[in-house]
Amino acid sequence: MEFLPNTLSKKLWVFVTTTIIITIGFSFLLSHYFYEKIYVENVRRGLLEEGTKLSTEYEGGPLSSELIEKVEWYNTKNESEVFIVSNPRELSACLPFEIDYDSIIAPEERDQLLNGQSVEKMGYEERFDRDVMAVIVPLIDSNRLEGIIYLYVPLAKISELTNDFSLIGLVVGVLFVILAVYVGTIFVKKMTKPLEIMKQAAEKVTAGDYSARVPVFSKDEIGQLGTAFNLMSVSIQKEDERKKEFLEDVSHELRTPISYVKGYSEALKAGLAKTSQDQERYLALIHREAKRMERLVGDLLDLSRLDAEDFRLEMCPLPLAQLVEDCLEKYRPSLQQKGLLLNTELDPDIIVNADEGRIEQVIQNIVDNAINYTERGRITVLLSKHEKGCILSIKDTGIGIPREDIQRVTQRFFRVNKARTRSDGGTGLGLAISNKLIKLHGGELEIKSNLGKGTCISIILPVI
Ligand code: ADP
Repeated sequence: MEFLPNTLSKKLWVFVTTTIIITIGFSFLLSHYFYEKIYVENVRRGLLEEGTKLSTEYEGGPLSSELIEKVEWYNTKNESEVFIVSNPRELSACLPFEIDYDSIIAPEERDQLLNGQSVEKMGYEERFDRDVMAVIVPLIDSNRLEGIIYLYVPLAKISELTNDFSLIGLVVGVLFVILAVYVGTIFVKKMTKPLEIMKQAAEKVTAGDYSARVPVFSKDEIGQLGTAFNLMSVSIQKEDERKKEFLEDVSHELRTPISYVKGYSEALKAGLAKTSQDQERYLALIHREAKRMERLVGDLLDLSRLDAEDFRLEMCPLPLAQLVEDCLEKYRPSLQQKGLLLNTELDPDIIVNADEGRIEQVIQNIVDNAINYTERGRITVLLSKHEKGCILSIKDTGIGIPREDIQRVTQRFFRVNKARTRSDGGTGLGLAISNKLIKLHGGELEIKSNLGKGTCISIILPVI
């Protein structure tokens, strides 16, 4: 297809124009063909009719001079040439051109005539420089060929017949081609214009301007392409904004611990901590902030791994009650320290197909929060069957989450009380990671909370 132009509009234009020209050319040929067919057929039928009519004048026996005169008179009045002869061999004498008997009437044609059938012939005659159409009608009496009537007429040439027609046809044809090409060009332009606009918009997006949109005028494939393009740039724009936001969040989260570390280490360097107690305190603060950054970076890495396409969970059948029990065991000291009670009610028969380490991470995150945000009362952990598999609820009697924030606690970096959670060491990423992990397991995270009364976070997981 190398010979085709390389723009769609030119290709379409070439296609439309070629189609139009071929159609017109074809209709010209077709009309010529039919015109000739109809004309020649008309001449043939006319000759045959004349011959048959004349032959009805024949009353049998040898040809009478009366009949011969009649035919001769008819010949002078008529366009076609008509002869009547009793012996076909005399025929060549009547004709104005040289021709031998055998080529006028072939032996099989003679038989045809004897049977009473007329003979039709058509052939090129040099003298007239055109085709000649001839009809021979037999005159039969008691099975004897008493004579023949020979009629012929030189045929008009196609060009003569179609001269007028050709000229008008040509003019109309040319006008039609001009009109069709004009309309075709407008049509092609209209069709390819949106594609041109789309190309420009795509170039803008490539250059980083994600706000580029295209106007959609139609519902056809091009319109649909426009809509798809707009949806694509909307999502690229959103993703871009999300990335920027994320970067801002991360730098914001890191800024505080870094300034703490910087401030306290400068103070130590400048000898501002006079007593060894002060030095200890400063060092402890530096250590706390360093740990905080370590956790933050770890959580961020976790989040980005979960977002990666090739992230895989190592699934295996897991008795969930056992895992929860082991997990809670580690919290005994901190629960005791805070004076919190722990109630558990775990269905031991529940087996889930899950990644042990990841489920443990989720449980730890939720229990961590429950202990962190509860000052008095108890923590209740329940595991039971559920219509969607099983449900593990971790309920506390802590500070609770304001109703308007419940939806947002699974968002990255969201913390209800930024100042408070800072001192708790929370990164605001724990529930975002947990939510993703549970979704990857085919389950869901459900959060219910009453401000000032407590929070209940449930993990719903499919079971084996
Ligand atoms: P963080 O590391 O800050 O705890 P999370 O993503 O685990 O981050 O939690 C997000 C926010 O949700 C917390 O900062 C806190 O404000 C709120 N939250 C989570 N769990 C509880 C809970 N059990 N009680 C009260 N608030 C909670």
